[in-house]
Amino acid sequence: MNLVLMGLPGAGKGTQAERIVEKYDVPHISTGDMFRAAMKEGTELGLKAKSFMDQGELVPDEVTIGIVRERLSKADCETGFLLDGFPRTVAQADALESMLADLGKKIDYVINVDVDKDILMARLTGRRICKSCGATYHLVYNPPAAEGTCDRCGGELYQRADDNEETVQNRLDVNLKQTEPLLDFYREKGYLKDIDGQQEIHQVFEDIDGLLQGLKK
Ligand code: AMP
Repeated sequence: MNLVLMGLPGAGKGTQAERIVEKYDVPHISTGDMFRAAMKEGTELGLKAKSFMDQGELVPDEVTIGIVRERLSKADCETGFLLDGFPRTVAQADALESMLADLGKKIDYVINVDVDKDILMARLTGRRICKSCGATYHLVYNPPAAEGTCDRCGGELYQRADDNEETVQNRLDVNLKQTEPLLDFYREKGYLKDIDGQQEIHQVFEDIDGLLQGLKK
């Protein structure tokens, strides 16, 4: 089960990724999470990524492609993987095709969680994340039972530094410009599956699940 999950920031990719990983037990490979972890540890990769991430810009392709290549060659990816937040550019998509070919694999589906641009801004600025386990919430759409506290592990919730309005606007602009050619790339290859991301969270997952059940047969 080799999957790529796509969607503009705030489309609900993270939430759907959690559910896919839980049900199908594939490693969740999020380049954003990998960069944030590297920043927290203060590694060379983290320092490289920080200046771009703080501005809402994409980290350069050669850096990003390198960390994904390394990750996909690990043993836990042998039976499948879920890529989240990668590829973000056609150069990354090309690199992914060739690294998968080297490993004797190919993508099964590129799942595109589709949400109207106007809705994304409101969604993003309300996002909160657990400091301890990384679970994602939304003040309006998916609030925790107790304000500021993770339902799952009791950890403290925080707002990501790049979820403020100015950075969000820039992040959306950058992503919009880059996403279209990528969607065309995968549509042409026949991998692309559009999922309506404006439905209830559970309904979005049911649609994805229906698709993945077909893959298991
Ligand atoms: P995300 O958590 O996916 O929204 O990513 C947060 C930030 O990490 C992005 O705004 C970029 O700065 C960086 N990033 C994550 N994935 C990529 C990628 N595939 N290519 C370039 N930059 C990325």
